[in-house]
Amino acid sequence: PQLALAGCSLNSCSRAPMLAGSPRPFPSQRYLPHSLPSPPPPSVPPPVSASRRDFLQTASALAAAGFLPRSLPALPSISSVVSPEFRARPCVVASANGLRGVKVAYDRITAGEDPLDAIIAGVNIQELDPEDQSVGLGGLPNAEGVVTLDASCMHGPTRRAGAVACIEDIATPSLVAKAVMDYTDHVLLVGPQARRFAIEMGFTPQNLLTEKSRQDWLRWRARLNPNDMYLDYDGNVKIKFHTGTINMNAVTSSGDIASVTTTSGMAWKVPGRVGDSPIIGAGQYCDNTVGAAGSTGRGEANIKACGAFLAVEFMRQGLGPEEALLRVMQRVIAMTEDRLLGPNGRPRFDLQFYALTKDGRFAGATAYEGASFAVCDEQGPRLVKCAYLFKESERPK
Ligand code: ASP
Repeated sequence: PQLALAGCSLNSCSRAPMLAGSPRPFPSQRYLPHSLPSPPPPSVPPPVSASRRDFLQTASALAAAGFLPRSLPALPSISSVVSPEFRARPCVVASANGLRGVKVAYDRITAGEDPLDAIIAGVNIQELDPEDQSVGLGGLPNAEGVVTLDASCMHGPTRRAGAVACIEDIATPSLVAKAVMDYTDHVLLVGPQARRFAIEMGFTPQNLLTEKSRQDWLRWRARLNPNDMYLDYDGNVKIKFHTGTINMNAVTSSGDIASVTTTSGMAWKVPGRVGDSPIIGAGQYCDNTVGAAGSTGRGEANIKACGAFLAVEFMRQGLGPEEALLRVMQRVIAMTEDRLLGPNGRPRFDLQFYALTKDGRFAGATAYEGASFAVCDEQGPRLVKCAYLFKESERPK
């Protein structure tokens, strides 16, 4: 049966007419499946200290059976210091475009809401904002003028993940990623089948290409090649390769963690291209015993370093979030092909990382000086400078 959303049936909302130039109000309905049953309750693991004890017992049992080196040291983890009275500092960190969203998410987690629901509500603001050309509705399209979206999420307390890649016509891929997590036995759905799944789950398809993004795409195409069939009628307009994404991570007062990343990916991309955002361990990663991390920027560079996973692993080994992220940046550069490095070995691209720990410490880091990230804790929402490896003057020309 067709699942109708409040005030808007599937048929009446599908393929909304092209938007006129002026901004229109945010869509009034929530892009949520309304008529679905609650997902089956996920199994919540026992308190951290118990699972750690289990881990150590399992490790020593395996060692005794000869499967592991006897001397294998226990994995360090922030949770090893966690007592039942443990209270984290509730905190939300995001890319700078999440400044509005971190406040929404923080208010929700401090009111007791689940951290993943809270941060998805935070990123929905950008996804549904037609003026934000980096995610969801209004995102810049691929080389053929089609908006395709990627998103992934992780829920620390239940150790679950969900993702969608290259999905069309659904403005809130973060919620579809969560639906994959909540209602299927899978982690990642892609392309037309991801779209079909979303519609089956009650999401409303709509045209995501706003008039502004369509005009930008036409300009980009016209100026691609001076000798092609499209005349470069507005040579003064700068159309470059745009990137943009929103990553958000939260930790609650009881130390429960979640992460989400959502994007329209690289503008003008080759159709079918998928970036780092929907790749668990690259675009975002979360381990409820340690912390969470995520990224925005050149996904191709991040995927090869498994950046979000690596950041969490560095924090597990005891590094603070800032040092962990800077080391991830170094690893990214070490994994970068020569054509993307200047003669000084510095990268020709931008990539940012964000992280928080189970006990509420946080950081953002990037290759070059000047970037900021958004944070909200008991001091309220604000932008904070990212740590960096290089001065802007070192960027290859
Ligand atoms: N990381 C995104 C991607 O590669 C793009 C971006 O953040 O700008 O798809």
